[in-house]
Amino acid sequence: MSDCIFCKIVKGEIPSSKVFEDDKVLGFKDIYPQHPLHYLFIPKKHYTSLVDMPHEEADVMAHIFRAMKSVAEKEGFSEKGFRNVINTGTWGGQTVFHLHVHLMAGHEMSPKF
Ligand code: AMP
Ligand code: ZN
Repeated sequence: MSDCIFCKIVKGEIPSSKVFEDDKVLGFKDIYPQHPLHYLFIPKKHYTSLVDMPHEEADVMAHIFRAMKSVAEKEGFSEKGFRNVINTGTWGGQTVFHLHVHLMAGHEMSPKF
């Protein structure tokens, strides 16, 4: 998707602070962090949202969760804990329409949503 900001980040056309990269997945710092630590993990392939992802391609989500788990362990916040969020569609609060998983940590969060 040529006009997608996260596709531009994947292609290196927009700068990002990367925390993880392999052939399928990119993790980078959220530009407007809502928590002391706030990363976004995306499939390199463009999907508008989870709804747009064909069932047979959903394995990349497991790949994303493995990547987040390894970053949490490497950066030392897996023991204290963290939160993951996926916003899907307008009612889900999605503002960037390239599927992404939020990884947030660094302080104690409310048990509520
Ligand atoms: P969502 O509401 O789930 O669609 O979240 C989109 C997230 O992308 C927000 O937390 C934004 O702060 C973040 N964001 C938007 N543009 C950029 C960018 N260029 N680099 C990093 N994060 C971004
Ligand atoms: Zn995209």
